[in-house]
Amino acid sequence: MNIRKFIRLFSCTATLCMCALCLSAKTKKSVFIIIDGVPADQIERLHTPAIYDIASKGAYSRAYTGGEIGSYSQTPTISAIGYTNLLTSTWMNKHNVNGNDNLNPNYNYPTLFRIAKDQKRDVTTALYSSWTDNRTVLLGEGKEETNHLKIDYVKDGYDHDNAAFPKKGNDLHIFDIDERVSKDAAEGIRNDAPDLTWVYLWYTDDAGHIWGNGELFDRYVYKADEQVARIWEAVKYREANFDEEWMIVVTTDHGRTDSGHGHGQQSERERTTWISTNVPVNEHFASEKLAIVDIAPSISRFMGFEVPRDILWEQDGIPFVGKTDIHTLKAMPYDDKVELSWQSYANDAPIEIYAATDNKFNTGGTDEWIKVADVKPGSEKATIDLKKLPESKFYKFIVTTPSNHIGRWLNK
Ligand SMILES: [Zn+2]
Repeated sequence: MNIRKFIRLFSCTATLCMCALCLSAKTKKSVFIIIDGVPADQIERLHTPAIYDIASKGAYSRAYTGGEIGSYSQTPTISAIGYTNLLTSTWMNKHNVNGNDNLNPNYNYPTLFRIAKDQKRDVTTALYSSWTDNRTVLLGEGKEETNHLKIDYVKDGYDHDNAAFPKKGNDLHIFDIDERVSKDAAEGIRNDAPDLTWVYLWYTDDAGHIWGNGELFDRYVYKADEQVARIWEAVKYREANFDEEWMIVVTTDHGRTDSGHGHGQQSERERTTWISTNVPVNEHFASEKLAIVDIAPSISRFMGFEVPRDILWEQDGIPFVGKTDIHTLKAMPYDDKVELSWQSYANDAPIEIYAATDNKFNTGGTDEWIKVADVKPGSEKATIDLKKLPESKFYKFIVTTPSNHIGRWLNK
């Protein structure tokens, strides 16, 4: 066979193989559920059936929220702040959501929903939510700042529908709304199978505020788990009947004070959350470094989303699916130098370090990232000479490998 014929035959065979791969690859879909304000010790003590059934296919682990205590990323353990930590994979110093009302999100840090819509392929999105502000404020649907984000399937607004859901004692109308939203979500997944779905369930937080730790709060955590079960059943129905592979993530936005009534501060119980997922996880998932900001990068990776470098490098999370190499970046200045140090999950990855001396991203601009070092695989520190960078009082550092990046700010 002459070489040209061989190449033609080879490329035909390769094309056929690739087509076979296309046909055999299942369509990936993802859904994340936030049940509000359920401490890790409570979910573990109750061992709620649906959440643990999901984890039996993948994994369960404790996680944290609240950023880094005492540093620029410290973030109150408050609800809308927590959802935004998840959606943007950033802490409050970036996303700027600082409470539950009068909010002014910094939309320059795009949510997972915008990343989904910016893919070259068509990605359908859905929101089933007991709190309307999740769509109108946090995701910023239709706003100029979010490039007029559109969500394909929406069920919310019940919290403003006093006729259908009249106010009840102990705020139990919110529980009724969660019931409706979880049924809507299960139906939507069964019938429409959106590519990316967010389900938000509210009442557990009210139950904690009203009763604190006790049998009544526990009862409504079990009921939230039944709502999760509806959605999990819908996911299993899709996988059994369609050529689809689903990633489900169930989590909470913050823990609570020791009494169970409050949250918002930085106590260990308020900062401690948890994540349950049905997909295989990497060693980061079981580490004590697992955080709420890791969820969006993990879903992104599972879905095969392409995330532009400048957006990716602003994300504070690390994927808990697939390979990760490094975590936990520290930056210690010493005169005109800074010592960067980090920890490794793998010792085989080449490491590159970049710096920016401004934060133009924060106001919608583009930062100039300057490569400052190549580091040997397995190294866990590097000294950077700041004199080789434009003079500044503020620096952003990124340490990156082929599998993941970690970042840190330095104020001099
Ligand atoms: Zn909350």
